[in-house]
Amino acid sequence: MSEKDGLRTYRGKRRFDRTSEPSGEHGRRDEDASSHEPVFVVQIHDASTMHFDFRLEVDGVLKSWSVPKGPSTDPHDKRLAIPTEDHPMAYRDFEGTIPQGEYGGGTVIVWDQGTYTPTSHDKRHRPVPFAEALEKGHVTFELHGQKLRGQYALTRFHGREEKDGGTSKKPTWLLVRTAGSGEGAGSGTTDPRRARSARSGRTLRQVAADASAPTWESNRGEKK
Ligand code: MN
Repeated sequence: MSEKDGLRTYRGKRRFDRTSEPSGEHGRRDEDASSHEPVFVVQIHDASTMHFDFRLEVDGVLKSWSVPKGPSTDPHDKRLAIPTEDHPMAYRDFEGTIPQGEYGGGTVIVWDQGTYTPTSHDKRHRPVPFAEALEKGHVTFELHGQKLRGQYALTRFHGREEKDGGTSKKPTWLLVRTAGSGEGAGSGTTDPRRARSARSGRTLRQVAADASAPTWESNRGEKK
């Protein structure tokens, strides 16, 4: 998640002639970030280990964490979140199957999507820029998703990110819901095998089946 790295790490891991994931080639900002509320996406990724990928738009890229158990709507339920490389904005639309043998081989669905409101503030209750708060290891935000709604926090609880390839412990974060109750608090199963896409209504299995259908098709723009 190094700031200067941009999407280089992301691109370095993938072969875009083999995977249908977006390359984010059109620069860090592949859309005008100033004209919209920052977005978030939660994907389910049936890779060698099933996990959720939690991504928040920050400064033109998707800051990303791998969340093994997925987000919880129960404030007592802290979820491990392991930082992964920045992803291009276009990744928030990605649903499909990454070929076996490629990085992250397996099927991906968009489990939830929406916008978020950064709510980080300092001790005097002055707002702190989100990227700055992230750097310091603690951000708060309100999710406005189709499934997840309410206040959440991401907090780094040990280790530090190294800027220059140093050998520190891998930083680990906790994702926790901090406030909000009742209706709209969150819905939709986090059982990854039963969960349905917020974009297409499909399960992982259906997306995998579509990917192995004889005619290759892009999932772009598909709606149900
Ligand atoms: Mn993943």
